[in-house]
Amino acid sequence: MNIKKVEMIATPREPHFVGDGFRVHNYIPSYPRMDMIRMDPFIMLDYNARYHFPGSEYPKGVGVHPHRGFETVTIAYKGRIEHRDSGGGGGIIGEGDVQWMTAASGVLHKEFHEAEWSKGGGDFQMVQLWVNLPAKFKMTEPKYQAISHTEMVTADLGSNGLVEVIAGSFRGLQGPANTFTPVHLMNAMLRPGGKVDFSFPENFATGALIIEGKVKVNGSEVADIDQFVLFEKTGTTLILEAMAESKVLILSGEPLLEPIAAHGPFVMNTREELQKAYMDFNTGKFGYLE
Ligand code: MN
Repeated sequence: MNIKKVEMIATPREPHFVGDGFRVHNYIPSYPRMDMIRMDPFIMLDYNARYHFPGSEYPKGVGVHPHRGFETVTIAYKGRIEHRDSGGGGGIIGEGDVQWMTAASGVLHKEFHEAEWSKGGGDFQMVQLWVNLPAKFKMTEPKYQAISHTEMVTADLGSNGLVEVIAGSFRGLQGPANTFTPVHLMNAMLRPGGKVDFSFPENFATGALIIEGKVKVNGSEVADIDQFVLFEKTGTTLILEAMAESKVLILSGEPLLEPIAAHGPFVMNTREELQKAYMDFNTGKFGYLE
């Protein structure tokens, strides 16, 4: 077997708040060896490790802000998130659900704890991943894909557990999310001792985030809850073996290999396009959202 070796196991650093509702550890791009070029097409990964929010009458979250040039993928593991955007779209991301938002030419949106959930509070755990768009799609129409966990394609691994495919494919099963370039995104739910292997092309950027439990990777290294495993580009196959009941988010994507000009909520190819994004935002071209 052509093993894809572990390049690094990253431990979460000090969290920071996005607005007042998302207490996140940033993995991409702030770690050495996990910058936007190494992780291309993934440009950002914020992880809200499980955290208890006390009940609040006013939903916590992040107010109106723009995005242009990429996709935001929000995966809710615990708690509920409500979003609304300038195009009139909105919805609730419940436990196990995914929202795949193609910001493309631009949206204004806001992301908050869902009102009813907020009142009672509780454990909150989520991932937000930014997937870059190729130059030719950056200025296309924005769109949403609301993917309920019930729509996800599931591979039954018997006593090992199961794999839930969000995007891309696993053993011939295709996930529901439409992507612009090849991206594989899936959750492995493993029983204690459960084993699974994944194969991805050599040039893809590949990683795994331990959402629950503890896993042995490639038969040797151990990755614990909340750690991020970065895999080398060489080699094709990685093996996970659960040392306890575990849940692992696996991501692998084909690099776009295009220049990146990123600042704040905009990810473009050139400085000029970035300046244009700020100008369009400041002159109200992203629409309106209260
Ligand atoms: Mn946002």
